[in-house]
Amino acid sequence: MVRQEVNIVWFKRDLRLKDHEPLSFSIDQDLPIVLLYILDFEYIHNPHYSNRHWQFVKDSLKNMAKQLKVHGQKLTVLEGDTLEIFKNIHSKFHIKNIYSHQETGLGFSYSIDKRLKKWVDSEKISWTEFQQNGVVRGIKNRNNWVKNWYAFMHSSETRLDLKQLKTVIFKSEKFKPNYFMNLENDSNFQQGGEESALDVLEDFIWNRSKKYSYHISKPTESRTSCSRLSAHIAWGNISIRKVYQAGYQAKASGNKRNLNAFLSRLRWHCHFIQKFEQEIEMEFLPQNKGYVSLRRESNSAYIKSWEEGNTGIPLVDACMRCVIKTGYLNFRMRAMLVSFLTHVLLQNWDDGIQYLARQFTDFEPGIHYPQFQMQASVTGINTIRIYNPIKQAKDHDPEGIFIKKWIPELIDFPTDHIHEPWKVNEMERSLFNIKTSYPHPIVDVTEALKHARKVLWAEKGSKEVKNAKKAVLSVHAVPGRKEQ
Ligand SMILES: Cc1cc2nc3c(=O)[nH]c(=O)nc-3n(C[C@H](O)[C@H](O)[C@H](O)COP(=O)(O)OP(=O)(O)OC[C@H]3O[C@@H](n4cnc5c(N)ncnc54)[C@H](O)[C@@H]3O)c2cc1C
Repeated sequence: MVRQEVNIVWFKRDLRLKDHEPLSFSIDQDLPIVLLYILDFEYIHNPHYSNRHWQFVKDSLKNMAKQLKVHGQKLTVLEGDTLEIFKNIHSKFHIKNIYSHQETGLGFSYSIDKRLKKWVDSEKISWTEFQQNGVVRGIKNRNNWVKNWYAFMHSSETRLDLKQLKTVIFKSEKFKPNYFMNLENDSNFQQGGEESALDVLEDFIWNRSKKYSYHISKPTESRTSCSRLSAHIAWGNISIRKVYQAGYQAKASGNKRNLNAFLSRLRWHCHFIQKFEQEIEMEFLPQNKGYVSLRRESNSAYIKSWEEGNTGIPLVDACMRCVIKTGYLNFRMRAMLVSFLTHVLLQNWDDGIQYLARQFTDFEPGIHYPQFQMQASVTGINTIRIYNPIKQAKDHDPEGIFIKKWIPELIDFPTDHIHEPWKVNEMERSLFNIKTSYPHPIVDVTEALKHARKVLWAEKGSKEVKNAKKAVLSVHAVPGRKEQ
């Protein structure tokens, strides 16, 4: 029997139907298309991922399906082993071309792609991968990178007409998406989907961005004054080019300072992913290899207290409990959590990196790894930033509003002492009738910070780290920038 020829658009972290080059390109070909999403078992079991990610993906796919339905078209969503699924599709249809976006993923997803590539080559199927954002594949250094980034962001959006789309679906009992079907919605987390992303963008640009720079570091206010686009960008509900152009055009109506600060962060997004794209070993090794020999002994009790939000340091615990429940924290609080683990508690960078990946709905390997390593001070090329969690709390949550929201044990605690509850003595406790099961600090923060400064600067000045620094700069240095 002659198999029907088809093309495949393989959706990965690009769960949208607008500004989507693989989709636009395939519509221009004269073949029916399988619009394919695969939830590979390896993703479900990978320690960087948790259900909040798959719920976000499920929402995103549902929204795509809803938009496609208007045009009488359908998505194919399957679960299982990627290669096996492609082989099965190929046994029913004749796959001519696969179109997808380039992905800067983890080691295991790269292996899935490599296995698939070997098979498509053997079957003479062509697989074209399109550039997804400002990250450029195959470059050896950062010369001209910034210029090219701006050129990409100002280039025209990919136009596509869904009315021209002709999909076919591949049905299979064996690869039914059971895992997705069993997920339960939790309204504490952001909802995925292209239409939600467009609403969030619009609302931010015209309303919420007015206090962007003023609130960016505050754990409570940042939740509404920052864009909250990270999960939508990470899962590709919206293209970063579309976000950039909306912000850029809105500057004509004012609010320039805030919008410029926002636009520069979109560049950071690609800047960090570019680092990971060029050095995927960062998943397993510190960027500066000098730190390999400076490994510390892990303390499982410390790590457990940090993970559970029970260190006895209010802002640290409030942040951890908040991200566990909601999947989101602003930048400064993320950095502080990493600094607490790796500086105050002197644990290793990889003692906490997968745990936080599971908590962030916006987990993006190419941002998470370089950012985490930078905050943990194992890059050797960035200024060491040690966050004092008590100062951070006094500066950014002076009334303890965020702390009280996430640590119910401290709800009745006097505001004067909310940042350092351990300082309240027995007499004051009985005077104010303070009863709380909140733990005593696991370390003396002031002493630990003093010690950390000594250790970190000695490590950075060590022969091993200094020798390895040149190699880092040759790959990652952005010309004209002091700090990388
Ligand atoms: C340890 C650590 C881990 C992180 N892991 C992730 C991650 O997995 N995924 C992720 O998207 N961001 C990550 N970040 C960066 C940053 O904290 C978030 O992007 C930001 O808080 C998301 O909120 P927003 O969308 O409201 O950001 P906005 O301030 O509104 O910024 C707009 C967009 O710019 C990008 N962006 C903002 N800040 C940064 C930054 N510092 N570095 C790189 N890109 C940035 C994001 O795409 C963001 O959506 C991490 C930061 C740290 C310190």
